[in-house]
Amino acid sequence: MGYNLPVKAWADKLLRALGEEVVKTEPEALESRSADESGLGPFLPEAVVLARNSEDVSVALRIAHEERVPVYPRGAGTGLTGGALAVLGGICLDTSRMNRILEIDPENLIAVVEPGVITAELQKEAEAENLFYPPDPASLENCSLGGNIAENAGGPRALKYGLTAHYVLGLELVLPGGEAVWLGRRTKKGVTGYEMALAVVGSEGTLGVITKAILRLIPKPRAVVTAMAFFPEEQDACRAVSRMIGEGILPRVMELVDREGVSVIRRSVGFALPEGTMLLLETDGTEEGAWTDMERAAEFAEGHGASQVVVAQDEKRARELWSARRSLAEALPGSADDDVCVPRSAIPEAVSRIREETGGLGSEVVIFGHAGDGNLHFKIKQDDPERLRLTREAIYRIALQLGGSLTGEHGVGLLKKDYISWELPSLSLQLQKKLKSAFDPAGIMNPGKFL
Ligand SMILES: Cc1cc2nc3c(=O)[nH]c(=O)nc-3n(C[C@H](O)[C@H](O)[C@H](O)COP(=O)(O)OP(=O)(O)OC[C@H]3O[C@@H](n4cnc5c(N)ncnc54)[C@H](O)[C@@H]3O)c2cc1C
Repeated sequence: MGYNLPVKAWADKLLRALGEEVVKTEPEALESRSADESGLGPFLPEAVVLARNSEDVSVALRIAHEERVPVYPRGAGTGLTGGALAVLGGICLDTSRMNRILEIDPENLIAVVEPGVITAELQKEAEAENLFYPPDPASLENCSLGGNIAENAGGPRALKYGLTAHYVLGLELVLPGGEAVWLGRRTKKGVTGYEMALAVVGSEGTLGVITKAILRLIPKPRAVVTAMAFFPEEQDACRAVSRMIGEGILPRVMELVDREGVSVIRRSVGFALPEGTMLLLETDGTEEGAWTDMERAAEFAEGHGASQVVVAQDEKRARELWSARRSLAEALPGSADDDVCVPRSAIPEAVSRIREETGGLGSEVVIFGHAGDGNLHFKIKQDDPERLRLTREAIYRIALQLGGSLTGEHGVGLLKKDYISWELPSLSLQLQKKLKSAFDPAGIMNPGKFL
């Protein structure tokens, strides 16, 4: 498709329909949405639609469709692969104002939300009702539920509780052209037709704009125990991950942080911690159950190379530790982010091959992440862009050779769009393209990204 209409003509049309409170074209509005946390860009949109509700989104998508203007949905802009970036200009469809929790229904265990709700806000509201919304991306204080759904976000607790996909029962999607459609349902079960809401989960803004979501909640666990196991040998920590799970021990969290990452955490928490590779473990359930599970996990770690297991004695320490873990990525400035996923039993080989190959390219790589799920994260220090590209490619190749995936949770976006065929068979890609054109025949949704 061509996107040739003069900006002024379509922007005027948007302005007339939605007004200045919603349509922004001043430089500050465009610049503040020209980047996300990927470090890619900047890419300036030509107009921002700061939608107040589904109706605003419908109007914007109707005009965009008529005028063939690219639309880039944006939540909170915390994406690490450039998914929200307006690579061809056009409209940044910002959902941050649509931030109401519309309903929490404790009897049916659901929440109905707008897409701009910050993830931690829903968690706080749910917990106030003794309920629990488990998906916990490390960016949870800043990212939005719309962005989480569009990226199928994970987080540490995905090990026991699953990804965002496991909590989406239904959603309202505004299609290019402006029509709104409800996909999915309010009930836990319901198998009438294809599981259409899940086609939208992980679609990275390429099918339409999510304007409401019905999310599943669960009862809040009564107790949580947090502990850290420190391993002098990195490979022992890596092996412990799959072996512990193979023994039938399933903590809700099993995070790996390498020696360099641990030294960053040691500097930021207000209490002493040993050195080494760390497995951050968390169990939950009843008071007795959580402690029994942690004792088993700790015993296992000590029997498999951990020199010390430190239990966070109170909630304050656990909170401090989590805050240090969550800000780990930001505490390593000047380095590039990446993530892949491997079968958890392949973590030892993945880590040793990645260290060897990336070291050979002169890159310094901090390895951490949601090891219980095989989801490894990287902070790559490499100033030369060509070597950075080779470093990323080495990591992707190793992950795929070990039966893994190009990305466990950060998505494809702009960063990995050229590599998607490394993982997906061409027939699968063709089917995905057909699915996209069923939703978005004119190709105005997030063009320039993976489809
Ligand atoms: C420090 C840090 C830690 C992180 N940790 C994790 C982690 O543990 N797990 C994890 O999964 N991710 C993590 N991320 C990545 C990021 O926070 C997630 O991908 C998050 O889901 C993005 O949400 P957002 O609201 O910022 O979306 P944005 O960055 O604004 O957008 C992301 C994508 O979603 C699309 N989108 C946004 N809203 C909508 C909508 N309403 N309708 C349709 N499409 C939409 C956009 O077009 C884009 O493709 C981390 C990021 C940072 C900076």
